[in-house]
Formats: sequence, C-alpha cells, structure tokens
Amino acid sequence: MSARVIAVANQKGGVGKTTTVVNLAAGLAERGRRVLIVDLDPQANATTGSGIDKSRLAAGIYQVLLGDASVAEARHEAKEGGYHVLPANRELGGAEVELVNELAREARLKNALSEVLDDYDYVLIDCPPSLTLLTLNGLVAADSVLVPVICEYYALEGISDLMATLRKVRIAINPRIDIIGVLRTMFGARNNLSQDVSAQLFSHFKDKVFETVIPRNVRVAEAPSHGLPAIIYDRAARGSQAYLALADELIARVEPATLSAAH
Ligand code: ADP
Ligand code: MG
Repeated sequence: MSARVIAVANQKGGVGKTTTVVNLAAGLAERGRRVLIVDLDPQANATTGSGIDKSRLAAGIYQVLLGDASVAEARHEAKEGGYHVLPANRELGGAEVELVNELAREARLKNALSEVLDDYDYVLIDCPPSLTLLTLNGLVAADSVLVPVICEYYALEGISDLMATLRKVRIAINPRIDIIGVLRTMFGARNNLSQDVSAQLFSHFKDKVFETVIPRNVRVAEAPSHGLPAIIYDRAARGSQAYLALADELIARVEPATLSAAH
C-alpha cells in the first residue's frame, strides 16, 4: 500500500494543528502504521515537539523543497514514538522567496514525496497557519485534509477561508483533494458556545466531523517542551486517550477494507 497523504490545515493559528500531527503520528505508529511527519511550518514546532534539534540539522525540508536533498536524506527519527520526521529548519522562512523562481514551485513537495510513498502508510503534513507557497505545497501533495477546529466564536470564519482555498486548489492543480475529517480540539464540554459551534459543524460537515473530541488538557500542552508526543509523555491523560481514539477513528475511516478483513 502506498501512503495516504493527509495535510493538517486551518488558516487560523493556535487551533491544534501541530499538536494533532504529533499525537496522531505517535498514535498511528503505536497501531503499527509507518508514519512520516512533514513539518512545513517555519516555527518548526512539530520538529522540536518530536525531540529533534532543529539547529543541528544537516538537511531538512528546506533543502528538499529546493532540490538540494532527497526526503530519504533529510528525514529523521522522532526521539520517541516510532515515527519519522522531515524536519523544518531555520532557513525555511526564506524558502518562500527562493521558490518563486523555481519551476513547478507548488509541486515541489509532491514530487519529492513520491520517492518515499512506499515506505509509509501515512504521511501527515503540518501546515503553517497562513496561505503561503508552503501551505500550497502541502495541499498539492495531499490526498485529503484534516481540519482541526476550536469550537469558539470565530471558528467558522477560519474554516470558510480554508474551504475557499481548497476550491481553488481543486480547480487549479489537485482535483482529487477532499476533507478526511473535521476535528474538534481544546474542547470545553461544559461550555455552551462549544456546544453551539459543534452543532453548526455537524450541520455543515455532517459525518465528516470526527466523533472523537480532543479535550483541553494541560498534559497535552506540556508534552512538547519534553520533545515528546502527549501519548508518550502521559499516556493516561484525557487528552492522550482522546488522540489514541482519534488514531483508531482515522484508521477506520481510511482503511475500512483492512478492518473488515481483520474481523
Ligand atoms: P497550531 O499548530 O494550530 O498553531 P498548536 O498545536 O501549536 O496549534 O496548539 C496551540 C497551543 O495550544 C500550543 O501551546 C499547544 O500546546 C496548546 N494545545 C493544543 N492542544 C491542546 C489541548 N488539547 N489541551 C491544551 N492545550 C493544547
Ligand atoms: Mg503549528
């Protein structure tokens, strides 16, 4: 099986994209899946949060995008968790400008990844919050998009921006991209607004909304400073358990044939 490539995207910052990428990677790896994270955010939080020192990288995503290294040369192993990372490095912020004059500048990541798709079951792309050439590379490379959403007042605005972007990407370059799921993150179960926004998400996205909800949980927020996914840092934490459930829900959604064959 060739890898499913999933971009985790939302044009709002701070909605849990990186946290979802890192914990989903560790959760899928624990379920025996081979996983690669692609860190497309110059802030490199998925890289650092996987215990990789971004200041000491000989090669990373920047070199890959510019054609100076292959994915096989630039990927690293996460400190713990059993997944691989194509790390972001300091130069990535400047890649935008340098890529502008390159050929096929939106398809650089897609082309580079094509060589390693057989090495993985899942490739999870951590996109930066704005619609940059980097995000565009993520959306062009992806089969589908996973959208983390905080159920608060402005949540739906961020999503409608992303939907408009997806429509453009479909028309221009990648007609097959779809939404694999909408994930409610940092959820406050006793918060009426959360419940309202949640209801709106269901009426708009229907069964695309994951049943699994990620609660707001301090252990999830602490884990990155230890260079670990939360599900390894504190497996029993409510947030960690939720991310493990999400990994199972995602597997059931994208691999239905495998699941029924196992029963
Ligand atoms: P994004 O990548 O969308 O900018 P992050 O994943 O970096 O968002 O999350 C933003 C902040 O919220 C980070 O400080 C992160 O540790 C924290 N955070 C994310 N998910 C949770 C959660 N379930 N509970 C508590 N804090 C969280
Ligand atoms: Mg992030």
